[in-house]
Amino acid sequence: MMATTHVLWGMALALPVLATAPEFAPASFAAGLVGGLLPDLDLYAGHRKTLHYPIYASLATAPALALALAAPSTLTVGLAVALAASALHAAADVLGGGLELRPWQEGSERAVYSHYHGRWIRPRRLVRYDGAPEDLALAAVVAAPLVGTGDGTVTAVTVAFLSVSAVYVLLRKPLATLAERLAGLVPQPLSPYLPERYRESGAYSRQ
Ligand SMILES: [Zn+2]
Repeated sequence: MMATTHVLWGMALALPVLATAPEFAPASFAAGLVGGLLPDLDLYAGHRKTLHYPIYASLATAPALALALAAPSTLTVGLAVALAASALHAAADVLGGGLELRPWQEGSERAVYSHYHGRWIRPRRLVRYDGAPEDLALAAVVAAPLVGTGDGTVTAVTVAFLSVSAVYVLLRKPLATLAERLAGLVPQPLSPYLPERYRESGAYSRQ
């Protein structure tokens, strides 16, 4: 799934906070954004493994939620939302495609790494690949209530992420070819530093 879809779903986790404790809503929207984005910062260093914790982040969310309910503050509520958003991100990646440059070819059986199980979880492909039309639909579904909050900043951020998503969806397949060509321009001694999915692609396998 697109990082922007994860971010919007992470921000949506702040909606219950807005409904029940609006004084913590601004921090919660920010925490949801950061927590939803954070796992994908491992894009170039062990993607969907280094910062993706589908089981452990989910387990850690329960006590964080309990603490936020028992002693609500900007810190405890923000931490609970951020943890929940990163757990949701890692778990949702299971529903997407495999870890490869062109996930629509269904050549990879690695969706996300479970540190708890010590192995990769296979992709369920309900969203066939990041940037698929159904991925954009998931982003749009959650963008609607976010835009409806009436908060100018949340609305502006949501519209910005949704717009970026729409452009990415249009360019997703040509971008894979472009990435492969750029990877091919990287001098051979540097190739070990490329993400595995680029090294596995045609650029280096042909040499
Ligand atoms: Zn991810």
